[in-house]
Amino acid sequence: MSKYAQHAAPADAEQRRQAPKTVCYQVEQLPEYNHDFYQRARANLTKVDEVIVDPRDAASFKVPAGHFFRITSVEGAQVGDLNLFNANDINERFFSGKTRQLHASHVSTGDRLWSNMPNLRAIATITHDTLDWYGWDEDGASVHDVIGTRCDPYTNHMLTQTDYHYCCHSNLTRALAKHLDVPTAQAEPFVHDVLNVFMCTGFIKDTHQYFMKASPVRPGDYIEFFAEIDLLGVLSACPGGDCGSSHSDDKTPCYPLKVEVFKADDDTLADWEGAADNGYDGSHGL
Ligand SMILES: [Zn+2]
Repeated sequence: MSKYAQHAAPADAEQRRQAPKTVCYQVEQLPEYNHDFYQRARANLTKVDEVIVDPRDAASFKVPAGHFFRITSVEGAQVGDLNLFNANDINERFFSGKTRQLHASHVSTGDRLWSNMPNLRAIATITHDTLDWYGWDEDGASVHDVIGTRCDPYTNHMLTQTDYHYCCHSNLTRALAKHLDVPTAQAEPFVHDVLNVFMCTGFIKDTHQYFMKASPVRPGDYIEFFAEIDLLGVLSACPGGDCGSSHSDDKTPCYPLKVEVFKADDDTLADWEGAADNGYDGSHGL
C-alpha cells in the first residue's frame, strides 16, 4: 500500500479481495514442450564454437537454427545478462515481458524465450538447467529471472550522480555495435530487457520491491538453450558478479562466462521444422 494512501477501504473490501485468481494466459494451449525430442537432439552434440565473455564486458555469438548453446559459469559465481536477436533481422528480439507472462517470473527447462511483436514466437527453448534444483526459496526467490531489466548507466547516474561505463546495458551496447560494425548510438536502441542468467531474485514480501541475493551458481553450472531460429546472442558478465551485494560499480569480484555452441544430432532433427510464424493477420482491425 502507498504510504500516501488516503482512502478508507469500502465495506465490501474483503469480498473484493477474495475474488478468485485466474492465470492470465491459457499456456496449456501452446505447443507442448517435447522433452523427448530435445533430449534426443542433445544426446549427440558436436561443439562448433566457444566464446569467453570477460568480466564487466559482453561478447556476441551466433547460433544457427537447430543448434544448442550453453552458458557456463567458470572460475566463480557470476550473473549474465542475455540479449537474443533474430540473426537475420535484429528488429525481432527477445521479449522478456511476454516470456514472463506466458511462463513465470523465472524460467528453467521446458520454458521458451519469446520474441517481440509483430513476430511473437518461440525463438529459443531451455533444454537443460543445472540450477533446476533451486526451485523457490523461503524468500520467494529463484534463479534465471525475466523480471529485472539490466543494470544501466542512466539509472546509476540518477541514483548516484556518477558515471559508470561497464553496466550490462553499456556492455551489451558495445558488443552489439562491434558485431554490427556501427557506432554505439546506432546499436543502443536494439538492446533490450534481458534474461538474467544465474541471477537469484524475488520481491520483498511486504514492500514488493525487487531484490537480489548471491547467485547459487558454482563453476560448471550451466543453462542450455535450443535455437528455434537463427540467433544472434549478446551476453554481458554483469559488474554485480554474483549479484549478492552491489552492481554498477567495480567493488564486487567478477568472473568470465563461457558460451558454447553445439551442433545437434542430425537424425533427430530430420523432421524438425523450425519456429512457425505467429499466424495473426496483422490487420489490427483495419
Ligand atoms: Zn548487470
